Amino acid sequence: MRAVLDHVGIAVQDLEAALAFYREALGLEVEAPEEVTSQRVRAHFIPAGESSLELLESTASDSAIAKYVEKRGPGLHHITLRVDDIASALAHLTARGVRLVDEQPRPGAEGALVAFIHPSAAHGVLVELKQAAVHADLSIRRVALGSLQLTVLHDGLFRLDGGAMFGVVPRPLWEQKTGADDRNRIQLSMRPLLVEADWGRMLIDCGAGDKWSPKERDIFAFDRSRNLDHALADAGVSSDAIDYVLASHLHFDHFGGATARQREALVPRFSRARHFIRSAEWEDATHPHERNRASYLRDDFVPLKEAGVVDFYEGDQVIKPGVRVVRTGGHTGQHQIVYVESQGRTAVFTADLIPTTAHIQDPWIMGYDLFPMDTLAVKKRVIREAIDREHLMVFEHDPLVPAGYIREQNGRRFVEALR
Ligand SMILES: [Zn+2]
Repeated sequence: MRAVLDHVGIAVQDLEAALAFYREALGLEVEAPEEVTSQRVRAHFIPAGESSLELLESTASDSAIAKYVEKRGPGLHHITLRVDDIASALAHLTARGVRLVDEQPRPGAEGALVAFIHPSAAHGVLVELKQAAVHADLSIRRVALGSLQLTVLHDGLFRLDGGAMFGVVPRPLWEQKTGADDRNRIQLSMRPLLVEADWGRMLIDCGAGDKWSPKERDIFAFDRSRNLDHALADAGVSSDAIDYVLASHLHFDHFGGATARQREALVPRFSRARHFIRSAEWEDATHPHERNRASYLRDDFVPLKEAGVVDFYEGDQVIKPGVRVVRTGGHTGQHQIVYVESQGRTAVFTADLIPTTAHIQDPWIMGYDLFPMDTLAVKKRVIREAIDREHLMVFEHDPLVPAGYIREQNGRRFVEALR
């Protein structure tokens, strides 16, 4: 078990006096306080090298910290050790007969998991174990589907407004699933799907690409330090080996990666590829209105037409053997999902119909959707079918779960992640 000192918790009675000591006398930086409502405590973190001090100020007379101060006076309250895998750390301690306060990890601040070791086992010190929240998983997932090889890739991370991602769902509910930053944005991924078949290699969607101005990078917090190039390399495939690119729809976070800037010119990013685009989606994307103008960027797709590498099609159909598009509407008028089918097995590239695993609950629908009631109707049908027929679902924007199976137990839905 590897443990690193995360912080030292100090119970304070007179906050002003304590701050005066740490801030003025010691010259340390005190961060803005964080309210931990469940513990009725306000935490003031003071970074000190690799670790920090945490001043704990009680906000109710019957809180654990108030009782502690009443009984023992202000002072050292706990130390917190950070571990990589809290469940295995607890198992390790249990096996050695170490007395625990928490047998199971429980949710702590900022999405962390925490558990306390009993002070009697730790020679009079209250020890907290903490597993910091993982904010993203950018490893690729490979899975054979009948005669097809599927690889869930990624094009890095970005952030969008948390409220807009969950529509009418109140913040206290979605916040339990995903933490927002100080600009109210949540972490999202972009995950294109690679299909390898005897007819060639197809990418379904292709991420946001790299044509962004510093201002846009800031707005969307693009983190492409690991991007589609890396993911393709992990899969052992070069950009030049892509034969086809299929768009779920033409929003920048799905199809921005189709073009690249080469000196002053915009060129197809996948030099050998034909690009399948639904005609009606092209119509919408090239005639945006006030509500969708920010999502359709001409530089992402018009250069493809100019280069003569677009194959337009109309209506739902099989694009290549085993790859079938189905219009869902909802998110955009022509938004579509992609069924990949081989030898009785099915994977569904759900695009913005079910952007993250949190969206498997029916009313969790993005505020961005132009026709949310269409999203609801289609989503109900698609999810019912996915549960009944064990469809493998790809969650394009989920930063942690690239793909998985939707299960239902006692009326409760959850996702069994593809490992
Ligand atoms: Zn999207």
